[in-house]
Amino acid sequence: MNDKELKIINVAYSYLDDSWPLAAVDGVSFTLAPGSALGLVGESGSGKSTLGKCIAGLLCPQRGRIIFRGQEITGNTNRDIQLVFQDSATALNPRMKVSALVEEGLQIQRIGSAKERQKAATELLQTVGLELSLCSRYPYQLSGGQRQRVALARTLILKPQLLILDEPVSSLDVTAGARLLALLHDLKAKHHLTYILISHDLAVVRQLCQRVAVMYAGKLVEIGEVTTVFSQPRHYYTKMLLASHPVPDPRQRKLPETNIYSEPLDPTLRPTGCRFHPRCPAADSHCRRIPPGFKEFAKGHYAACHQA
Ligand code: ADP
Ligand code: MG
Repeated sequence: MNDKELKIINVAYSYLDDSWPLAAVDGVSFTLAPGSALGLVGESGSGKSTLGKCIAGLLCPQRGRIIFRGQEITGNTNRDIQLVFQDSATALNPRMKVSALVEEGLQIQRIGSAKERQKAATELLQTVGLELSLCSRYPYQLSGGQRQRVALARTLILKPQLLILDEPVSSLDVTAGARLLALLHDLKAKHHLTYILISHDLAVVRQLCQRVAVMYAGKLVEIGEVTTVFSQPRHYYTKMLLASHPVPDPRQRKLPETNIYSEPLDPTLRPTGCRFHPRCPAADSHCRRIPPGFKEFAKGHYAACHQA
């Protein structure tokens, strides 16, 4: 145990819908060492963004604890943990100019004089590779890639230790995405940042992360080193995710062990036993009744699957 780690302990968050609560995150636990990068993957609706918001303190989990550097932070925002939202087009206030958007965090926290804040914002815009001439523009006058960089500069100005990046490149074209990934890679090394990278793109996770956590229907189903999980996935859901990913060389394409064409789970349904059993080709009566616990397959590689 390391008290500098981020510890997520049995965290659960339900959205209270009109008629019944929807368990978006349902008892997720993992730890994250400082300076490392964890990819959080899973289909849309699996609870990745909700978990990210819980860690950033924007949502208060109904159950579980979040501990950062030995301090309980459940339900509180913390300057050291910042979230870059999934959709920069709506996450940035359309009435604020780029310079004001980048400075805003310092202003809210009452850090520095106006001049110092301006200087810090200018430096950060350079760090993220934006022309200073963009300072007086509004978000709608920027490209998607530029907006993502503004969103990144806005969080970096608070000098966070942990950065949660929610689908940072999913709205960008491939070259803008590649540039942003390279920037994230450099920033991480330079500022010894810790990342949680939420993405449905496994290639992005492979590029930036050492570990990967796979979520399905609010549950963590597999976690481990990227190289191990991607080469020897244990959970059938992870196998399905990997098989769904296009491979450029047809000779490298493996026949999927799983039915990649099965429909995603209705979010209001939470099946008994293993949540993946209605889609799993290997499910038996045990899977339908008993929720699987985690088994360790290699050092730090865990999966919750009865059939693994
Ligand atoms: P992901 O980021 O993996 O796509 P989310 O965390 O956004 O998943 O969503 C998890 C589940 O919670 C989904 O079923 C989604 O429909 C639901 N959900 C997300 N946000 C809300 C909300 N504000 N109110 C009600 N349900 C929500
Ligand atoms: Mg999301």
